[in-house]
Amino acid sequence: MDKLIHGTAAGGTVRVMAAITTDIVAEAVRRHQTSPTVSAALGRALTGTLLLASSLKELDRLTVKIEADGVVEGITAEADADGKVRGYVKNPHVELPPKDNGKFDVAGIIGTGMFYVIRESGYDIGLYREPYVGSVPIVSGEIAEDFAYYLAKSEQIPSAVLLGVLLQKQKPFVRASGGVIIQMMPGANEHIITMIEDTISHAPHITSVIKRGATARDLVKLALGAIDFEILEEKEIAFDCNCSFKRAVSLISSLGRDEVAAMLAEDKGAKMTCGFCNEIYTLDEGDLQKMLDVEKV
Ligand SMILES: [Zn+2]
Repeated sequence: MDKLIHGTAAGGTVRVMAAITTDIVAEAVRRHQTSPTVSAALGRALTGTLLLASSLKELDRLTVKIEADGVVEGITAEADADGKVRGYVKNPHVELPPKDNGKFDVAGIIGTGMFYVIRESGYDIGLYREPYVGSVPIVSGEIAEDFAYYLAKSEQIPSAVLLGVLLQKQKPFVRASGGVIIQMMPGANEHIITMIEDTISHAPHITSVIKRGATARDLVKLALGAIDFEILEEKEIAFDCNCSFKRAVSLISSLGRDEVAAMLAEDKGAKMTCGFCNEIYTLDEGDLQKMLDVEKV
């Protein structure tokens, strides 16, 4: 089971979040049948979104949306306070040749565009608050740098963001995935910041340690080096979508009586695919007839 931790260091002036997301990204790849480069992009976005969501109090849901002019066109990832995450891309099968260094050309499939963060809170206590929406232009397209740029520009939190997805040829295609975010809060000491920057610049790539069994705690150590940290929370995280057959039924019945009658007469049923998780719900003639019987308007 994938895990996420968050904690603090240097007397609370540094915040740390880290997660292993190998199973989550494998599940996303299985559901959306993404090409290798899209798998890397979606995996980084899902991991970054989970990490960002874990740093916020009173959060119900955090959505990261990348709208871009590259072939993938769009990536959406959504995480909640319980460690559930789901996500999808607009064009799952597009691909580009690898870069000269052999790495996936994630920036190439994304191109330029906008990076949005939407935070929703208050639902669980019965309040409706206007969602908070922050946005920045895409500066890199490699995703980790875009999360860092968003945090620095939109939330004024200088941050180091490391996200990595390592793929393999055989199922489940994802060999290792995870990420770390280190945030410098107001009052963070220059010496500490320099130490962290230096440690990160000399650290091995995170997927190379995750594939050897590193935990979320090990990832924090990799980024902080000799600096002590305290873990405030550790939780299990998973790819999880809140769609269901019941929701599919209510969505189709909301199309109206005429539409449902037409589906019954012409198609003898209906099919609904959840955009977030690609689950297909099939309603047969009986299900549609039941809707018409109930909704005598
Ligand atoms: Zn779904």
